Amino acid sequence: MNQQQRIELPVTSGIVLETRDLTKIYMQGKAEIRALDGVNLKVEAGELVSVLGPSGSGKSTLLSMIGALDRQTSGTIMIESQDIGRMNKNQLAEVRQHIGFVFQYFNLIGRLTALQNVELPMTVKGVNSQVRKEKAIEFMNLVGLGDRVNHRPSELSGGQQQRVTIARALAQEPRFMLMDEPTGNIDTRTRDEILSLVKKLNEEHKVTTVIITHDAVVASITNRTVYIVDGKLYNTHEEALAAEQTSRELNDEKTYGEGGVLA
Ligand code: ADP
Ligand code: MG
Repeated sequence: MNQQQRIELPVTSGIVLETRDLTKIYMQGKAEIRALDGVNLKVEAGELVSVLGPSGSGKSTLLSMIGALDRQTSGTIMIESQDIGRMNKNQLAEVRQHIGFVFQYFNLIGRLTALQNVELPMTVKGVNSQVRKEKAIEFMNLVGLGDRVNHRPSELSGGQQQRVTIARALAQEPRFMLMDEPTGNIDTRTRDEILSLVKKLNEEHKVTTVIITHDAVVASITNRTVYIVDGKLYNTHEEALAAEQTSRELNDEKTYGEGGVLA
């Protein structure tokens, strides 16, 4: 049996994540900022989905809602058929323990080795040290860093650090992975390596993944892209472009990056 077949990742089925009419309003003094506006998103087990949108469109807000990090203003969020809006703090913390978060900034603990960083989610769950070390080594092998287990984050390249955070996220035994601009902080060649890894985890290990990004190249490796403009979600590129055009006309000082990321 090879290393990869020994990896145990949770098997999910059906709809893993669903939002219905999800709305988030932030108050800025007396002004309301409608960061999400009636978002309907459904993700099935085994999917690799991207949410593509310009800066300020509501991507990180969406991630914090579906990652159970913050509460919505209205609407429903279901994670594996459970309505997380009805959960208390402890229940939400439990839900978060089964989500594999990968952020732009790697958030690794500097004084721990790569392996210890990957062990951490299992340490928190009380997994015995021998088992957790063996599993962490498997996850490090899976992300192609079997020869870097004893390195500290500062001794690794940006791309390697991001692979360690992916290994750590896998150690959560995630029901799904949530990535917010996972390649935002690394060069383009390394970006492609990370993207191949994400693709491989999805294809070979059926890891359900939602990637949130403003980078159309990142979105291009996924099997389905949805678009977000001014807090509204669109299933087609045409609808998103039309919305972006309208938004530009209404509010032309708004930044869209280089010529609009949706273009
Ligand atoms: P993105 O990740 O797509 O760049 P965000 O979700 O961070 O967008 O932000 C969406 C909108 O909500 C922006 O107009 C932003 O200024 C606003 N926003 C985000 N977080 C807060 C907050 N905590 N308080 C007030 N406004 C916020
Ligand atoms: Mg963001």
